[in-house]
Amino acid sequence: MYYKSTRNSSVQLSSAEAIVQGISAEGGLFVPSEIPSVSMDEIKTLGGMSYPERAAYIFSKYLTDFTEAELKYCTESAYTDKSFDSASITELSHLFDGTYVLELWHGPTCAFKDMALQILPYLLTVSLKKLNIDKKVVILVATSGDTGKAALEGFAGVEGTSVMVFYPVDGVSAMQKRQMMTQDGANVSVCALNGNFDDCQNGVKAIFTDEAVKERLSEGKMMFSSANSINWGRLAPQIIYYVSVYAELLKNGEISEGEKINIVVPTGNFGNILAAYYAKNMGVPVNRLICASNANKVLTDFINTGIYDRNREFITTISPSMDILISSNLERLLYIMSGENDELIREWFTKLSAEGRYEVTDEVKAKLKSDFAAGFCDDTATKAVIKEIYDKYSYTLDTHTAVAVKVYEDYRRETGDTTKTVIASTASPYKFSTAVIEAIEGRAEETDEFEKVEHLHKLSGYPVPASLAALKDKEIRFKDTIDREEMSDYVLRALSL
Ligand SMILES: *Cc1c(COP(=O)(O)O)cnc(C)c1O
Repeated sequence: MYYKSTRNSSVQLSSAEAIVQGISAEGGLFVPSEIPSVSMDEIKTLGGMSYPERAAYIFSKYLTDFTEAELKYCTESAYTDKSFDSASITELSHLFDGTYVLELWHGPTCAFKDMALQILPYLLTVSLKKLNIDKKVVILVATSGDTGKAALEGFAGVEGTSVMVFYPVDGVSAMQKRQMMTQDGANVSVCALNGNFDDCQNGVKAIFTDEAVKERLSEGKMMFSSANSINWGRLAPQIIYYVSVYAELLKNGEISEGEKINIVVPTGNFGNILAAYYAKNMGVPVNRLICASNANKVLTDFINTGIYDRNREFITTISPSMDILISSNLERLLYIMSGENDELIREWFTKLSAEGRYEVTDEVKAKLKSDFAAGFCDDTATKAVIKEIYDKYSYTLDTHTAVAVKVYEDYRRETGDTTKTVIASTASPYKFSTAVIEAIEGRAEETDEFEKVEHLHKLSGYPVPASLAALKDKEIRFKDTIDREEMSDYVLRALSL
């Protein structure tokens, strides 16, 4: 198994090289040369294993240059009950007839990003060692909230690494800001930027490709790497929980051997749902993959028409982690669906950056329709479904998962498809307390974030995640706010270069 680039099929890298590089030199994303398979017998065996064991088993099919001992070290270090407040790492609950919620937010930052960012530092440091790279790795992150905190928490204290996060000064939730400003660790730094998320992202990209900055880093025996979801080291860990959940349902007698399930994913950058597509293509019996968007419904339109068009208004919603108009990981899906046609991928993605729009071939359109269904909902419908599920089933959804539940309800009504279904739940409701309280009670008091958490605790009865409760008494460490032009100086200064 080796890795090629979606924009140059002749690239051949080991998984360790792909993880260290993050993105291919010509701008393409790394994909495995083939999708490995998992048999029903193997899935049954996985049912008897712990989550770290399941993870090491699936990883061994993708990261073929890692030894068994290396994979065991990575998975056992990342998926522990010290970092996760669930012994089984993920939790599965039955919502209503044949519909299950897979809670992926029991990690230290209360969002599903932890599933990958808790293990990425181990995969990365092992990769560096395998490749005899003796440089300190500097992880630069632009975040709209969840990725930044999850990267900080994953990399804090990891030897040989340093992590720097930039967030838009007014573009993250109160809880997300607090989580980042109080981050522990000697190798971390956090800075607010006067601007929006795009300014952060463009600023980080400009630093990545600034030859003068790179030169300075190199002189200081350092190099840049990325922790966002274009890195294969973030995607691979997400495949695991989709294989794992099938093994779990089978073990619990909820489904029979070979029975197909639907998977619903609240989608932004297309990373999480792409992982489900990989699981399906490995051999996990999946009927439809249901892609749920908020009012930024560029993916719904794409799956239904084959035309990707980002020329539209950007809408700020109560599910901010899905407020996105360019879904990077779609490139990997289209590479596979076009028969690994790197020329077509270059053509489409050049058009995307020049005109903001491209249209795929009829063949790809047909493939999209056969694997995926797609839908969207706005904030009003999101709040209504939070209230409905709370009233009917005493289950409290966060705003992102609520989008998925609403889209699934619509799908089920329109198609009459009653296939058993797993809905990916991507965040704890406590991370978005204001919107969730407003949904349930019609309004939320103007109180501070921690009083809202207490209030939501009374409503939901769910234990308050210890990591969120602890924030209240933590020292604010990072107060800097800078302008876009100051970013590269800021980075160099923070690294003492
Ligand atoms: C990042 C995120 C998403 C979107 O996931 P993608 O992999 O980008 O599609 C959805 N919900 C939450 C809470 C997130 O943090």
